[in-house]
Amino acid sequence: MENAVLTEQGRETFRVLLLSWYQLNARDLPWRRTRDPYRIWVSEVMLQQTRAAAVVARYTQFIERFPSIVALALAREEEVVALWSGLGYYRRARMLHSAAQLLMKEHGGSLPKSSLELRRLPGVGDYTAAAIASIARGEAVAVIDGNVERVLMRVLGKGAGSRGASAARLKEVASWLLAPKAPGTFNQAMMELGATVCLPHGPLCGSCPVREFCRTQGEHPVRPRKQMISVKSHYALVKKAAGRHVEVLLVQRPPNASQMPGMWELPTLGDHDLIESKVSEPALRIRHSITNKNFYVQVFPLEVETFSRLASASDSEKQDWVAASNLPEIPLTGLARKILMRLDVLAKPRQVRQGKALPGADDEFL
Ligand code: SF4
Repeated sequence: MENAVLTEQGRETFRVLLLSWYQLNARDLPWRRTRDPYRIWVSEVMLQQTRAAAVVARYTQFIERFPSIVALALAREEEVVALWSGLGYYRRARMLHSAAQLLMKEHGGSLPKSSLELRRLPGVGDYTAAAIASIARGEAVAVIDGNVERVLMRVLGKGAGSRGASAARLKEVASWLLAPKAPGTFNQAMMELGATVCLPHGPLCGSCPVREFCRTQGEHPVRPRKQMISVKSHYALVKKAAGRHVEVLLVQRPPNASQMPGMWELPTLGDHDLIESKVSEPALRIRHSITNKNFYVQVFPLEVETFSRLASASDSEKQDWVAASNLPEIPLTGLARKILMRLDVLAKPRQVRQGKALPGADDEFL
């Protein structure tokens, strides 16, 4: 196909094609039904490095529990992190909470209006500031996330390495393309195009509204991904039950742990513990991916008496019995949450049960 050129006139056509496509094809996501800057802020922080399908259930619960900046600022950090469970990158939840407290102290409980002022809040980078300012306030500032970057690289015909476009160049092009009368909708349309059509692998160019402007029309060269490292780990599921009341033994990670400090997980089992306990078959095998590590996890159900004889039981880490009904209030690691849901100790969120959330690569059974 002959390429249309992104002249001044071409830019107008690009905007019209993209916005018309978005109007017909935008997914119905809960944060798209509001212009409330607080709700958009929460959704944009949750969406950083997390798929929209995984965010939907958590976002709805989070907004129900913390419907305003003041509600979030008054909550305990532990409670905020608990509602973040399963989304990963828990530092985002802590920063959101401390930013809400700062807003109460210094901004009268409201979010600042401009992207420049928003950028000064803890945990708010260029992307989040631009998204809130354009969607909630109509500021003409371009958003560049991973999806938009991919669309722009392909439209411009750029790949990885020395031929790739610099961040400054992408910002320049994104700002030039932006529809000044509808910057929020345009930004969302670009992100949606990257998330649903201009996919990292196998882009759906036949359904792309801006195909005529695209110099690549397919996958562009990218730097090879870091190789994944495989790690094996074993956990114990130790339960006490009295009638319908069930308690599960959990361990709290140290407050100074480099990852997920203060969060709760199942007790780990060393190789020696497995021999000692004489268990052979795990109740669950799953793979859990964090950045470039694949954790191949096996979970062994153990009697209280059996577990108490093992070396893991005497570890100095904080252990506690937690009622199954209280688990939603506890800041669980994503892996612990996944295991407890799979083993029916923790109820699954309604959206997941109805099959509205998409399974991720890290959700596969071995
Ligand atoms: S034509 Fe294909 S590669 Fe180009 S922007 Fe559209 S979906 Fe992406």
